[in-house]
Amino acid sequence: MKKRLVPLFLLGCTFSLTAQNMTVETQFARPLSDVLKEISTRFNVTLKYDIDTVGKVLPYADFRIRPYSAEESLTNVLAYFDYKFVKQDEKTYKLKSYEYPRRTDEDGEKMLAYLHTLYKDQASWEARKAILRAEVRQKLGIDPILKQKVNTKPVLSKVRKFDGYTVQNIALETLPGLYVCGSIYTPAKKGKHPLIICPNGHFGDGRYRKDQQQRMATLARMGAVCVDYDLFGWGESALQVGGAAHRSSAAHIMQAVNGLSLLDYMLTRKDIDPTRIGANGGSGGGSQVVLLTALDDRFTAAAPVVSLASHFDGGCPCESGMPVTLAGGGTNNAELMAMFAPQPLLVVSDGKDWTASVPTLEYPYLQRIYGFYKATDKVSNVHLPKEGHDFGPNKRNAVYDFFAQAFNLDKKMEDESKVTIEPESALLSFGNKGELMPAHAIRSFNDVAAYFDKKLYSQLKSDAGLEKKAADWVATLQLENEKDAGFVRTLIYNHLRQVRDWHNEHPYSTVPEGINPSTGNKLSKLDREMIADSAMPKEVHEKLMNGLRRVLTEEQVEQILDKYTVGKVAFTLKGYQAIVPDLTAEEEATILGHLKEAREKAIDYKNMKQISAIFEIYKTKCEQYLNNNGRNWRQLFKDYVNKRNAEKAAQKK
Ligand code: ZN
Repeated sequence: MKKRLVPLFLLGCTFSLTAQNMTVETQFARPLSDVLKEISTRFNVTLKYDIDTVGKVLPYADFRIRPYSAEESLTNVLAYFDYKFVKQDEKTYKLKSYEYPRRTDEDGEKMLAYLHTLYKDQASWEARKAILRAEVRQKLGIDPILKQKVNTKPVLSKVRKFDGYTVQNIALETLPGLYVCGSIYTPAKKGKHPLIICPNGHFGDGRYRKDQQQRMATLARMGAVCVDYDLFGWGESALQVGGAAHRSSAAHIMQAVNGLSLLDYMLTRKDIDPTRIGANGGSGGGSQVVLLTALDDRFTAAAPVVSLASHFDGGCPCESGMPVTLAGGGTNNAELMAMFAPQPLLVVSDGKDWTASVPTLEYPYLQRIYGFYKATDKVSNVHLPKEGHDFGPNKRNAVYDFFAQAFNLDKKMEDESKVTIEPESALLSFGNKGELMPAHAIRSFNDVAAYFDKKLYSQLKSDAGLEKKAADWVATLQLENEKDAGFVRTLIYNHLRQVRDWHNEHPYSTVPEGINPSTGNKLSKLDREMIADSAMPKEVHEKLMNGLRRVLTEEQVEQILDKYTVGKVAFTLKGYQAIVPDLTAEEEATILGHLKEAREKAIDYKNMKQISAIFEIYKTKCEQYLNNNGRNWRQLFKDYVNKRNAEKAAQKK
């Protein structure tokens, strides 16, 4: 009655090679996992895996092992699969996927040494800078977006008065219907003030967090107008485009558009001194400082904090989603920041993240460029070797000192204890639930993506669909704790995305044509698709299940799995109950067990056809079980069909 699909996917598609067939004809190929085991034994090192080795076969395997060096061997072996290693200690290496924005200190050193050869004085550096200026814009793809920019009046909140400063929220329309939301901190004192544009990084609670408010307000008390604003897809921007938009290349472009748009608007204010314009941000906000100052020469002082490095561009798509560092035939954030010479620049670094290299690599490099202008005194580095990746008091103090000097601020007013920390709701322009958003405001990804190119559009649309699916599923659980709900949403969204991406990157054509060994039939397209999908690293599944079980009850976990599989467990069980009217409790429990196994397997497959095929495998198991339990499944099924037909015929009469 039904085709039997052998669980071929359980076999995977690995194969083994013996010493006899290690010849040039087989390209001396060996499974990657074997080669790594050998390196581990031979060099007595521990290899920690963050990579997938399933089904990966390495040609010329043993020739890649260099007996004098574990690291050279690893490089030779891993590069073939776009993997790399990170040394954790003398005897331990972590194997990871290649990340284009994250390189090594050695790479930074070599790159800076190379860049040094490109210019020897101010004139040759200016020539290089002109190329970078043009190509950064082009690689970022910002000009086609800026062409669509609107120039409407911002939505401004009431001004809130505090000790020595005021705060006002702003929602500024950038592209039609799209807003950037932020807050303007202004000194209480009247007069012309310098302006500091403060893009935000990825610290928890975004721009609403305490240390952010402390910094904005303190700089305002000292005499500078400060503007901070949400990351694209964070804070109020999430109301418009959803959180998934942040992990798109559009975020890279839009965050630059947002910073420049706010600068344009602020310069229309009569209390701003256009000769004193600063940029300051930490982490991802520091990456934005580099980009903003490279794009626009109206900035006159800059302070990237725990961000700048020659070997790391920022790992988020909002920092490296567009190939900006391919400008000028290859560049990095240190060189892009050097374009700011000879204007005042402070680089804040620490000992516990990638900026640990600043005192020995990036700072000397910057000093050389500043030297072309006889302005080495204009670039400074505050390095905090014992500190980590945050915007803590010592980093803020460095920023206060720097801007006090650069913009002639009032140091006497530097006192964070005078700052009022407002609740997040006070800093919103559109209300707690977005109820004050203008009527024409965009409320979906798709409308934003329309400003970008088609390819991006389809990716954004797909991500948005998965994000909504995850949100809808989690909503049915009616979780009381919003933090848990958010965690589960992200967990499911990431899983759905990984399943989709694996499916799209491993089409059926990657599995050779062949036969199903248990039927002898040629593998169908669906069989091959399922074999390809079944090779997805098991960590993807485990991460989801462990996460779900950590915050949900078992019943809630089952509810989510039922969402993935559109209630197939209950539906199929009902079928068995109808076909076997005297199904015993024990039989029912066994069948339910099989169906639940099917359900958990099926969630890692992308489409309904595949999910059904998984259930078919387990239905076969259920029917074999019934037969072994003294039932005649074939007969039971036939009786059921006859009974249904008779009922239908009776109804017609
Ligand atoms: Zn980001």
